[in-house]
Amino acid sequence: MSEKRTLTQVHAGMPTSDGAGVQLTRMIGTPSLDMVDPFLMLDRMNNDDPDTYMAGFPDHPHRGFETVTIMFEGLVRHKDSVGNEGVLGPGDIQWMTAGKGIIHSEMPEMIEGRLRGFQLWVNLPAALKMTEPRYQDIPANDVPSAHVEGGVVRVFAGEYDGITGPARAHTPIRLLDVTLEPNADWTAMTDTGNGLFMCVHEGSITAADNLGRDQQAPAPSVAVFHGEGEVSVTAGPDGAQILYCEGRPINEPVARYGPFVMNTRRELEQAVRDFQSGALA
Ligand code: MN
Repeated sequence: MSEKRTLTQVHAGMPTSDGAGVQLTRMIGTPSLDMVDPFLMLDRMNNDDPDTYMAGFPDHPHRGFETVTIMFEGLVRHKDSVGNEGVLGPGDIQWMTAGKGIIHSEMPEMIEGRLRGFQLWVNLPAALKMTEPRYQDIPANDVPSAHVEGGVVRVFAGEYDGITGPARAHTPIRLLDVTLEPNADWTAMTDTGNGLFMCVHEGSITAADNLGRDQQAPAPSVAVFHGEGEVSVTAGPDGAQILYCEGRPINEPVARYGPFVMNTRRELEQAVRDFQSGALA
């Protein structure tokens, strides 16, 4: 029998607010799920009241990792210290490498009363934490998709079913937007040693735990898988939409302070000093 990954934990996420008061659900980066190496944080926006997001994320710095913004409904307008400016719309993603430092603003806006999307933080290894900042704005039309039995898989990064996603990540990542019809079965092959979670954000899935029992992950939740080999899930009666995040662990110490993620406390203190003196970006 081939090896299978098993569903070991399901986390519901934690309501929080960030920026200038944007209400969101923190799915990863919480007391119950600190990180899934190399993924440091996952925030989910799902708003239909402008008062819960209007103030947005005005100018703020980052250093030491990559932010990935994935939109399903609504917009995010962004502008940074290097002169980049743009608008992310439904189906678009932005892969931003903060590296040695960037200061930017991210301002969400509804379309037809809806705002739905994610921001994922991907760590950088020590050797790349101070790399040059880089933006990749990838429009929905440039995201290839694979039609599978009972669903559609959009490939943002890494390889799936012979398709390579357009985003270039510094850390080897497979990032997929998986939509499954009601009760559909879906199986993917994972790379040995990779960390893996799926954020279920519409509908629900079930998958087997390490004792072969079916565990349910309803939206919104993060399903964390362990082991090696194939991973198999079954969509619930309302189908499922899943953000699939697989990546090679960096296995280095993580020191965090707000928008900075470094290896040591000293490096964090340097980041704060650089920001305060204007040397960060
Ligand atoms: Mn930001």
